[in-house]
Amino acid sequence: MKGVRQITDHNRLTIHEAHNLLKDKQLTSVELTKACLERIKQVEPRVKALVTITEELALEQARKADELLASGNTSPLTGIPAIIKDNMCTKGIRTTCSSKMLENFVPPYDATVVERLNNCGVVMVGKANMDEFAMGSSTEHSALFPTHNPWDLSRVPGGSSGGSAAAVAAGEAIYALGSDTGGSIRQPAGFCSVTGLKPTYGRVSRYGLVAFASSLDQIGPLTQDVTDCALVLNAIAGYDDRDSTSVPYSVPDYTQCLTTDIKGLRIGIPREYFVEGMQAEVETAIRTAIGKLEELGATVEWEVSLPHTAHALAVYYIIAPSEAMANLARYDGVKYGFSYQEADSMWDAMEKTRQYGFGDEVKRRIMLGTYALSAGYYDAYYLKAQKVRTLIRQEFDQAFEKYDALITPTSPTVPFKMGEKVDDPVQMYLSDVCTLPINIAGLPAISIPAGFADGLPIGMQIIGKPFSEETLLKIAYAYQQATEWHERRTKI
Ligand code: GLN
Repeated sequence: MKGVRQITDHNRLTIHEAHNLLKDKQLTSVELTKACLERIKQVEPRVKALVTITEELALEQARKADELLASGNTSPLTGIPAIIKDNMCTKGIRTTCSSKMLENFVPPYDATVVERLNNCGVVMVGKANMDEFAMGSSTEHSALFPTHNPWDLSRVPGGSSGGSAAAVAAGEAIYALGSDTGGSIRQPAGFCSVTGLKPTYGRVSRYGLVAFASSLDQIGPLTQDVTDCALVLNAIAGYDDRDSTSVPYSVPDYTQCLTTDIKGLRIGIPREYFVEGMQAEVETAIRTAIGKLEELGATVEWEVSLPHTAHALAVYYIIAPSEAMANLARYDGVKYGFSYQEADSMWDAMEKTRQYGFGDEVKRRIMLGTYALSAGYYDAYYLKAQKVRTLIRQEFDQAFEKYDALITPTSPTVPFKMGEKVDDPVQMYLSDVCTLPINIAGLPAISIPAGFADGLPIGMQIIGKPFSEETLLKIAYAYQQATEWHERRTKI
């Protein structure tokens, strides 16, 4: 067992640590919130993780939280500062999706996840930068500005939830929410050395999440450790009648499964995820981490094969753009968002609105999707992709008859340099090879810190069958109890 962590900066507390101090009246939410706001002022000029800083609102919410705490009426999230990715609607607060199209969009309602956090008395300190409409793996596709990795400012924080991950890693808030369509929680969590969970499709309501690819999108927590991840999932999971794809299963208390007893759990290591071109240090770190789990009592099968994995990238880049093209048709300059004003006709106005409102990557996806869905190509691309999607899902189902979890690297490399892949879409797409198949199959997966190469973070991905979040959290918890990677902090 490890010693008790000594915390000098309040903004570096975990949720469970801060909650204990708040409850015992050794700290107030206003003090904690001020520590985060101070930290934001100190690092934001360099990290640029936030699109909007909600200082006034945060202090007001903190004061209210302190009253709740005084009355003893609390949840573990009461009074704890959080950051929300800027594709989740926040009533009265700009929600840009890091796009020119929504730069001045102020939603008239809260996303369900935001509403649920508000009901817990949460404090929101800001909205996080992201790749435009969540399309990307580096946050360089934000139409506003790129975010920097707090471990090395010349590198990307990953994406598309790069702002959320960087903010947590830099100590700007205690935790954040992100969204994951093909890896956008896990990949930045890996790149920034934080814990990130993509829940099972349907576990968390998508109501009020700006839609990218509706059959793949899912909201989840980015936190400093697994316990915090369980606490946030407790608050946001569960059925919502405003999202017909949310599943009416009861929500367990996810902290109940956090024990270090993983004896006998069966873990499979799919060889296709140790892809060609993978960085040697990443492979070594992940194999060492798996060895640790074996030491802790898990039964590891080192040579599992999931042959359809090879097609996941192609399937994703047909299905995700097809759904995106349909979802993004609503941005026509008429209903809400950016509207081009100097047009000659209605058609001209719509065309120019989309021409100036969307960035290059978004346009690329719309074109890919339009092509894949057009008459004559639909059968060859979209329908075929859906069939392969079924095969990928079945292959996972079969694997989960034998294993409780599968483990892979989160990404094939450590965080890359800013600018390195931004002009090469295929290289950029490849940074999600290990995470995309999970969304295609609708499974839950968590990324946890598992080492460093030359000071740059490495993430390990644990994948489970649908609604087995407890198993993933348990394995991740056992690993974090036995290691210290997740306790390392950036020096900036
Ligand atoms: N990087 C992937 C993409 O660009 C996944 C993004 C996401 O999960 N939102 O589509």
